[in-house]
Amino acid sequence: MLILSILFSMKKTPFLLLLLLTALLSAGCSNTGNKEEWAIVIHGGAGSARSMTPEAREKYMDLLDQALKVGTEMLENGAEALDVVTQVVVWLEDCPYFNAGKGAVMTSNGVHELDAALMDGRDLQAGAVAGVRDIKNPILAARHVMEDSPHVLLIGEGASAFAKSMGLTMVENSYFSTPERLEQIKRIKEKRETPDPKGTVGCVALDRNGNLAAATSTGGMSGKRWGRVGDVPVIGAGTYANNNTVAVSGTGHGELWIRRCVAFDISALMDYKGLSVEEAARKVIFDKIDKMEGSGGGVICVDKNGNIAMEFNTNIMFRAWATASGQNGTAIEH
Ligand code: ASP
Repeated sequence: MLILSILFSMKKTPFLLLLLLTALLSAGCSNTGNKEEWAIVIHGGAGSARSMTPEAREKYMDLLDQALKVGTEMLENGAEALDVVTQVVVWLEDCPYFNAGKGAVMTSNGVHELDAALMDGRDLQAGAVAGVRDIKNPILAARHVMEDSPHVLLIGEGASAFAKSMGLTMVENSYFSTPERLEQIKRIKEKRETPDPKGTVGCVALDRNGNLAAATSTGGMSGKRWGRVGDVPVIGAGTYANNNTVAVSGTGHGELWIRRCVAFDISALMDYKGLSVEEAARKVIFDKIDKMEGSGGGVICVDKNGNIAMEFNTNIMFRAWATASGQNGTAIEH
């Protein structure tokens, strides 16, 4: 009303008034930021396809689909990307069939040590925990590190003490064990199986307000040395989000992801070189990671416009995706 009375007092012609009002109204509309676009991609780890029965394959497809539904429902209802990636990763951590939270792999001396991180593309805030042994949902601890501490990364006992002080659920280390993981570490110790990174979980999302977020959680590489920290909690290696470019979550041979700053490199290629999200992800995985010795892996990405990319140089990457424009699916192989 104030604006209107000022305009009338200015005694401008009706035509000028109309122009001014139209400009004001359209500026108001764009400020709501309520774009209808949203997009989400989830991964459940990349690796080499060992014997997977048709039943196991079907089960994984179903689990990925369930996790995807958690995220898509939230995004459709207008939830923030940061809440969506947190919630999806909590669901995957609680699911015993992935290498994160319950069901995580073990170190060579039979202990579970977990890493997790998340990042908010709005303001580049990030939180991470590494080498934690007793936090039921490491991704929630990472979120608290971001929101309730002045730090980005807390490790081991310090991270646990902080998580406890935040009221998070603490568990015995044996909570994370499953019969499959106990069998696996036995095979690795007896040299019947080589350590293989597979099963890490991650989620990237673009919400209706144009905000990006990424979250990743893992037990790391099976049979790793205790105290080893992988790429997941290293911001810019396994996890990264920036509203100006892209949100990325990685899975695979973490040492390579750290050395190549994989997630940040994808963002930088888009930022400085103007590559599309698919071109940038392919370049990093196939021109860089593929040329290094190690067991490779993959990335999931969503850019600021809701374009998605899922690239991997391993045989398989468990993944699921959905966008407001109707793309939707789950897949394991190429
Ligand atoms: N990137 C994880 C790590 O090296 C493992 C994985 O993604 O499976 O800790």
